[in-house]
Amino acid sequence: MECYRTHYSTEVTTAQHGCEITVAGWVQDIREMGSIAFLILRDRMGTLQVTMLKKKLDPELFKKLCGLNRESVIAVRGTCKPSDKARNGYEVIPEEVEILSEAGTPLPMGVVDKVGVDLDTRLDNRFIDLRKEEVQAIFKIRNRVIEAAHGYLRGNGFIEMHSPNIIGASSEGGTDLFAVQYFEKQAFLSQSPQLYKQTMMATGFDRVYEIAKYFRAEQHNTRRHLNESTAIDLEMAFVRSEEDVMGTLERLIRHIWDHVADNCTDELSLLGVSITVPSLPMRRVTYDEAVERLAKSGVDIKWGDDIGTEAEKLLGDLMQKEGCEFYFITKYPLEAKPFYAMPENGMADDRYARAFDLELNGVEITSGAQRIHDVKLLEERITAKGLKPSDFEGYLKAFRYGMPPHGGFGLGIERIVMNMLGIQNIRECTLFPRDRMRISP
Ligand code: ATP
Ligand code: MG
Repeated sequence: MECYRTHYSTEVTTAQHGCEITVAGWVQDIREMGSIAFLILRDRMGTLQVTMLKKKLDPELFKKLCGLNRESVIAVRGTCKPSDKARNGYEVIPEEVEILSEAGTPLPMGVVDKVGVDLDTRLDNRFIDLRKEEVQAIFKIRNRVIEAAHGYLRGNGFIEMHSPNIIGASSEGGTDLFAVQYFEKQAFLSQSPQLYKQTMMATGFDRVYEIAKYFRAEQHNTRRHLNESTAIDLEMAFVRSEEDVMGTLERLIRHIWDHVADNCTDELSLLGVSITVPSLPMRRVTYDEAVERLAKSGVDIKWGDDIGTEAEKLLGDLMQKEGCEFYFITKYPLEAKPFYAMPENGMADDRYARAFDLELNGVEITSGAQRIHDVKLLEERITAKGLKPSDFEGYLKAFRYGMPPHGGFGLGIERIVMNMLGIQNIRECTLFPRDRMRISP
């Protein structure tokens, strides 16, 4: 430890009893009872009790501390004393207290108050909202999710790449992009690293991944869409079919769940969540089978259409009854998938694509596919989608001089965290969300 503190609140063990320690953090509460005052100090690990004895401190300082506004920041040097009554089994008897920053009053919102505040107020005051332990827990878990992804992928021969977020043209056509002024030209913010990670397949780096931000100017305002989101994207070469990609994905997911289960026991119990590490292989349901099941439950989907949010949710309920939290929807109609998805039999007019989604409790968390690697077929599919191959020349070029078969997927991090923890609104799973209405803070 360094700087103002020697210990975090919950790190103090019986070995420190009787010793001098320095702790620092936010004043959560102060109770004055004449010649003694109890101050609850909160740091990133938890809280501890500072028991201030009037006779041991400078009287002016004692008075000042007793009148200190909640959420002010202090550092306390004192003796660590065992105590049955105090939380953590010890209290700190201060010899020196330094006020590092005084909080204003009233606070824009409380930290420990039981009264709830609405999500907008919380997001408007995110720096305070994030002082709550249950809110911090979400981001500690998110951190472990990302740590697990890096660990698994690097351990399995994937190299981390970074594609540009400023792009000259749409990566896929269709989705709305945010336009930005790029000197004299118009450019866009990237919606995904799709074309770049595929381009990497032509380089010899045959397993790549990227964890980055993407931007989508989608107008909708839903509980599961952000306009700026984070994803784990990967691409791998020399696959025989989409099954190879699905295998990597399900093992990655299992590793993430395992890692969170192992490292986030406190956070999970604070949030009242228990997670089940999925057993493999995960269930595969074809698109046709999904449509059929939904029809039996009274929801008709026109063959070829995407499975809408409500139908997706219903399918999730049906699958959950069979004990499947996770399941793949495979063999999508070719028309429902982007131009780069491999047709089932390698023909431009095939009925199905070698494409899949991974669903968790009725919400899509991943889309993936084997991709087309034959440039003629790719041009045909671009044309069939009403796009112009000439607009994709920079991308197509990479397919003309030796491109191995490949496939990959995109896995939204906020979607993972949201569905892993049963959080209703995706905005809770990113620090400073960007949505249709919100661009600040
Ligand atoms: P959806 O159908 O749910 O709108 P999508 O099919 O448009 O998603 P993809 O282009 O397949 O999304 O993106 C890959 C993954 O990135 C998705 O499975 C999801 O986890 C995540 N994702 C996509 N769009 C968003 C968004 N707007 N906000 C948060 N996560 C997203
Ligand atoms: Mg998708």
